[in-house]
Amino acid sequence: MSLPPSAWTHRFAGLGPAFHTGLRPTPLPVPHWVGQSPAVARELGLDPAWMQGDEALQAFTGNTVLPGMRPLASVYSGHQFGHWAGQLGDGRAILLGELPGPQGPLEIQLKGAGLTPYSRMGDGRAVLRSSIREFLCSEAMHALGIPTSRALCVTGSPAPVRREEIETAAVVTRVAPSFIRFGHFEHFSHSGQHEQLRTLADFVIDHFYPVCREAPGNPYAALLEAVSARTAEMVAQWQAVGFCHGVMNTDNMSILGLTIDYGPFQFLDAFNPAHVCNHSDTGGRYAYNRQPNIAYWNLFALGQALLPLMDDQQQALDALEPYKALMPAALQRRMNAKLGLARVEDGDSELTDTLMKLMAADAVDFTIFWRRLSHAVVGSLEPVRDLFLQREAFDAWAARWRARLQAHPGFDADATQAQMRRTNPQIVLRNHLGEVAIQRAKQGDFSELARLQNALEHPFEALPGHDDLAGFPPDWASQIEISCSS
Ligand code: AMP
Ligand code: MG
Repeated sequence: MSLPPSAWTHRFAGLGPAFHTGLRPTPLPVPHWVGQSPAVARELGLDPAWMQGDEALQAFTGNTVLPGMRPLASVYSGHQFGHWAGQLGDGRAILLGELPGPQGPLEIQLKGAGLTPYSRMGDGRAVLRSSIREFLCSEAMHALGIPTSRALCVTGSPAPVRREEIETAAVVTRVAPSFIRFGHFEHFSHSGQHEQLRTLADFVIDHFYPVCREAPGNPYAALLEAVSARTAEMVAQWQAVGFCHGVMNTDNMSILGLTIDYGPFQFLDAFNPAHVCNHSDTGGRYAYNRQPNIAYWNLFALGQALLPLMDDQQQALDALEPYKALMPAALQRRMNAKLGLARVEDGDSELTDTLMKLMAADAVDFTIFWRRLSHAVVGSLEPVRDLFLQREAFDAWAARWRARLQAHPGFDADATQAQMRRTNPQIVLRNHLGEVAIQRAKQGDFSELARLQNALEHPFEALPGHDDLAGFPPDWASQIEISCSS
């Protein structure tokens, strides 16, 4: 017997008509499977046999609405590239409802499932290329331990979709406890719907931040502070793994501190702190090294949106203040872990700053550096040294690093090396790896996608047969242009 999920719930829908529009997804012709995450299916308690069948294929393409689903598109607004953009909303995403997960209900959302009242100039569709990137990166980030929305599956269809050229349509099924964004709050605040603003804030507190209700003082200020803390941790993790989001607009910022809306993202190849991964970001607003400050800018916009619920402006400013110390502290903790240093001590930021400057000057490959360094605790430093042009400067830095490691009471080289190997991934979703899988998928061959997915699900392990995924990027990788087109 193959059984469809039956325990659908609808907490977001319960907020009422000011928050969303109910509508059915628009069908796509002759859908086929592109990829699935069995791990996400397990979390949702989905029957593996059912997930192989046509009913699941049709449902997750948006061609049928299963009993218990209540499809809707939500309304939000936001700041895009630093400017108020007014009303946006789910222009191509459709929420189906929630299914029970291990830690509570999980929202199931189709992306690319057709026009909604919020589609503006868009066509409501997503192309295969960007859907594969979102699917792979969601699962890769999760395996790296970085808070993120998940991806259950991707389906494809031969239906043509016009971007720079004609491509084909795909639908990603995304999963998260909530897809509420900073932009949802901005929407109700800026449009003067303050009663709905309070309803939304209460909803988020009750379901996701219940401690804010007990906190002394204003619960909405407590919410802003809690969101800031989660955002600080998330961005610190991005920086530590060399992840560039690409479009940190306020409508792409999760109220739960999850990485969401994978578009023109990139994992750094050669280390360049000013790297801009989004070809459409001509001003470099969302450069790698600006992400922590941009997150603060976005939190400030959220704080502004929450002002009608606070006693005064100072309350919002006070709630935002901890981010300024939390973010660098979280990042230093992560960088120390990458270096094998269990504790943060005075002088550690100088040690990492010196290293980052050296890596930038010599355009050292970010992922390969950290992985090789992990092996140099017990083994030779030579493979790490080989990555640098300024060998003497590197030697001086490495001597300080080793001295700092060995000064740790009870230093155990093997244990440190093992810990570093669990911290510094061997495999990340580099642009060129995604590109190879996409080109093959466009020809109807999904085997490379599956192989890459498997490797990304075990980023800290040197799996046999995956060596080619862990090497330097080919020369053509730097020519890949990833833009907002998706
Ligand atoms: P993004 O920055 O890509 O997350 O998208 C910004 C806004 O544009 C959101 O409101 C999206 O729903 C909407 N959007 C993006 N692409 C499309 C599309 N092809 N059709 C309709 N809406 C879209
Ligand atoms: Mg978005």
